[in-house]
Amino acid sequence: MRRIYLTLFLSLLGVACAVAAGVKSGSETTLVDSCGFFPQLSPDGQWVLYSPTDATSLMLKNLSSGAVTTVSKVGYPGFDAIFGPDGKVYYVTQQRKKNGLVYRTGHCYDPSTGRDQVVLKPQHGRVQALRAAAGVVINGERQIYRSAPNVGAWTYTRGSMLYLVDATGVTRALQPVKDSNGYLWSSLSPDGTKVMFEAASHGVVVCDLNGSVISELGEFLMPSWYNDHYIIAMSNAGNPRLAGSRIWLMSVDGETIKPISAKEERAVQPMTAAGKVVYSLLYSGEVRQLELDIRPADFVPAATGKGKVMKVKDPVSKKDVPRVFINPGHGGHDSDDRHVPTWVIGARDTLHYYESNSNLTKGLALEEILQNKGYETAISRRTNKTEDDLDLFEIVALAANSGADIFFSIHSNATGIEKRINFPLGLYRGWDGKPAVEGSLQLSEAVMKQAATNQLTVWTHDRRSRGDWSFYTNWGYQVGLGVLRFNKLPGMLSEGSFHDYLPERERLLNDNYCWLEAWNQSVGMDEYFGRKGKFKNGVIAGTIRWSDRYRQDDDRRLFGEDELKPLNGALLRLYNGRGVLSRIYTLDIYDNGVFVFTNLPKDKYKLELYYGNEDLYETVKVKSGKNNTVYRNLKLKTDQKPKKKK
Ligand SMILES: [Zn+2]
Repeated sequence: MRRIYLTLFLSLLGVACAVAAGVKSGSETTLVDSCGFFPQLSPDGQWVLYSPTDATSLMLKNLSSGAVTTVSKVGYPGFDAIFGPDGKVYYVTQQRKKNGLVYRTGHCYDPSTGRDQVVLKPQHGRVQALRAAAGVVINGERQIYRSAPNVGAWTYTRGSMLYLVDATGVTRALQPVKDSNGYLWSSLSPDGTKVMFEAASHGVVVCDLNGSVISELGEFLMPSWYNDHYIIAMSNAGNPRLAGSRIWLMSVDGETIKPISAKEERAVQPMTAAGKVVYSLLYSGEVRQLELDIRPADFVPAATGKGKVMKVKDPVSKKDVPRVFINPGHGGHDSDDRHVPTWVIGARDTLHYYESNSNLTKGLALEEILQNKGYETAISRRTNKTEDDLDLFEIVALAANSGADIFFSIHSNATGIEKRINFPLGLYRGWDGKPAVEGSLQLSEAVMKQAATNQLTVWTHDRRSRGDWSFYTNWGYQVGLGVLRFNKLPGMLSEGSFHDYLPERERLLNDNYCWLEAWNQSVGMDEYFGRKGKFKNGVIAGTIRWSDRYRQDDDRRLFGEDELKPLNGALLRLYNGRGVLSRIYTLDIYDNGVFVFTNLPKDKYKLELYYGNEDLYETVKVKSGKNNTVYRNLKLKTDQKPKKKK
């Protein structure tokens, strides 16, 4: 992870008045004092819906009486609830089954009666409550609920596709812009003639119903229609840490683009209804409201008639298999990446280690391994460009949009000081031993336990699993890691090892070593999802070092076998049980001695190495199913007499 220092002097800043053209003078009010995230104003402007920092409850405040009601405290109902045009609250809860799969349920709550009703039965994958022209759609992958027989047109996104469903139920798939890491937050204009969405790493796009781009409004997040010509969105001023986050008003034609919230407020999560704009303050969760002196969209009456559940004819997933959202850290070789130029003796050159490179190599490897194991995956980036340095809100929204069972963020660690250590660290949202989202601790333990079995590296300490609220206590109450914040998937961030330990950095320069870390992560996930042993093929991995030659680095901070000089560029042959040469592996020249043979059927293998006058033979048995990674750290002795070949 990046080293982040948050300014925690917010209380000292004083909030300046943000009156700007478009904002009604003196209209700023506080609706909720604290812990109100993802605020939603009712269509009549009389109610506000919000969630505390961990999504564990959904709260509703009557703005006339000031009375606060808990809508639900079961199944993480917070973060993505909405109001329908009928004034009812629609929200989705999640339940994690014993096999780790997350099932989601659609609810409807009527504030006038206090009646709560399940309207869509539990199903696996993504389930989201979305606004339609005259109603609400709870969009599941298997079944869909519509709040009335004819709710009108609606839109949703999946991956880098925009879907438009017209009033007759016909769906069209559009791709108005390419080169995006995924589309988010799509919505139809109040008059139904335009559709707006945010393309991650690209920005807010408005297009017509055929997908022809009308305007591109730049890097804003969570856009919503104020009326047919004006849009409300948030920006983070290019700062992934949200330090500059503000609420903006802009016109579809791009002529008006201006902030309407004060810079010091750090405003996030805007939405608009009844001619008002509501948003939250990033740390306190205070919910604020502004009124605009612009005519709002006409009120759309809710469609009448009984709600209806429809079956999805051709679901994307035929079976309920585990789905993993992979976040290979931050992208781009920018200043926030952790770059270390490394003098590597074997390569006789300075090699440039970037955390963003090894994170991506691990992430792409994990994606492929999981798919081979029958999992479904989604991923936040596939390349390493500046545009891949996604905003944290985008990553979290992409994960939610994927309908995944777990969120998995891949990083490596650094002490930031002179001290050298090396161990795997899993971080989950919440306090130590008390994750904010159930399942996160089990996931972290399963993955870290497996990570610690890696024998190619030298661990200086035992693995750890920590809650980020406990780990980063100096960041403020329940602040924690940005990428886990506002994320209600069971999830974790893996700090696989310490890249500022020189031999480890040299190993991380090797793609196969990164692959091995991903492989171990997948085995941890197999355990989490109760699928251990389902995948039969195994791995042989190890290092080759001299038993009597030592590293000559100036940096003598070396532990255990890392004192020994690794072999560079040697050729390793793998023979199967019938004596047939099945693989050849060439060690790299980055002073790590790493070798990895992947996807091996069960068999008795023989490893063979010739290096100058020396040679090595080793027999390795790969068993089917369980414990199917076999480690061999081999040593070569100088001027060893060649053994007799059998
Ligand atoms: Zn990192």
